[in-house]
Amino acid sequence: MSSSEQESLEPKDDLSTHLFECRVCSFVYDPKEGIKKYGISKGIAFSDLDKQKFRCPVCREGIEVFRDIGPASKASGFEENLDYGFGVNKLTPGQKNVLIFGGLAFALACFLSLYSLN
Ligand SMILES: [Zn+2]
Repeated sequence: MSSSEQESLEPKDDLSTHLFECRVCSFVYDPKEGIKKYGISKGIAFSDLDKQKFRCPVCREGIEVFRDIGPASKASGFEENLDYGFGVNKLTPGQKNVLIFGGLAFALACFLSLYSLN
């Protein structure tokens, strides 16, 4: 049981909606999704997770390797641009696959640009 939570004044600064990315494996914790296999239900803010027990579900690193990558709405705007590049304009249930694909393409683009610098 937690004590009563305070409502944030500004939705923009509401950390409970922020996504957090694992710097080791790039796993992203989304408060809207939670992590089923850890029994973390939807709507649990990253800041409300048990900092002693939480581990990245992919690489098992502790909570300290996670960084705040901002609110989900900001990230989705970025993803929309990626979707546009792939010619996918509609939001579908299969969008996750597109996001994964877009992420891979983005990583590849980063790799290629680094490569060309050398
Ligand atoms: Zn990780």
